Amino acid sequence: MNYVRLQNGVKMPQEGFGVFQIADAEQCEKAVMEALSAGYRLIDTAAAYMNEEAVGRAIKKSGIPREEIFVTTKLWIQDAGYENAKKAFQNSLDHLGLDYIDLYLIHQPMSDYYGAWRAMEELYDAGKIRAIGVCNFYPERLTDLCMNARIAPMINQVECHPFFQQKAALENMKELGVQIEAWGPLAEGQKDIFHNPVLTEIGKKYGKTVAQVILRWHIQRGVVVIPKSVHKNRIEENLDIWDFELTHEDMDVIGQMDLGHSEIIDHFSAATAKWLNSYKIHK
Ligand code: NAP
Repeated sequence: MNYVRLQNGVKMPQEGFGVFQIADAEQCEKAVMEALSAGYRLIDTAAAYMNEEAVGRAIKKSGIPREEIFVTTKLWIQDAGYENAKKAFQNSLDHLGLDYIDLYLIHQPMSDYYGAWRAMEELYDAGKIRAIGVCNFYPERLTDLCMNARIAPMINQVECHPFFQQKAALENMKELGVQIEAWGPLAEGQKDIFHNPVLTEIGKKYGKTVAQVILRWHIQRGVVVIPKSVHKNRIEENLDIWDFELTHEDMDVIGQMDLGHSEIIDHFSAATAKWLNSYKIHK
């Protein structure tokens, strides 16, 4: 396992396990247990995934010391604003059964995220959160937040995969000293990516699967990855990426697969803002 150092010196595993769309509590608990036993030490959940309790149970049952697991959760839009964010953070802690979070992220750049950010800065100062960050902040919003916040975000989690490589956003984050973390690192399986002929050919040279080639490509670009799977064999497969290295030529070939836009979600559309704002996770 490789680690990245965040701007504040916190050490974060470069690969972790995501639990989006594992709504069934038993399935989520089992998947997280399998991930921890396979060797993952970063778990990425969110209040909006409705599975923080299951993640917390798996962490407890694993018997792995708390300080060895890097836990991420996220603040939903409905809980933006200073007071709401403080309450939502406490709810997440309670659901997870933990007394601190390693990484707390603003889930979407919407509603009163500046108020939320101030609450997060205070929780960070109080030692309740080891690192704070954002998701889905594109260059103009990320730059604005970095220029106005007392504490700049340490992470920006954005969609990133071979079809949407975020080249400009990556440059912007490097300039700002913000670590990029990829959501949808496997493109959520879109466009039949696991049978992509270019990636399959590259994999053959190393005896690796398409998923392993993609994850390795991310790692070599300095990106933190959090692939999700509910299948034990895939959970293990996705972690088995530390014994090979893609050549510059492989990296360039994959670089040419970039479409330059998302086919999963358009963060710049009014329809997306409406849909995300109307998604409620509590009364
Ligand atoms: P992903 O990890 O790119 O892809 C997951 C999909 O790929 C699932 O359908 C999974 O199927 C399949 N898969 C996984 N490994 C595979 C393998 N080795 N071979 C074949 N198929 C495989 O997508 P994601 O879950 O959207 O993204 C990862 C994590 O990012 C999430 O779980 C979540 O923690 C985070 N995320 C954050 C945001 C945000 O806005 N901040 C948005 C989306 C996601 P099975 O489960 O059936 O194996």
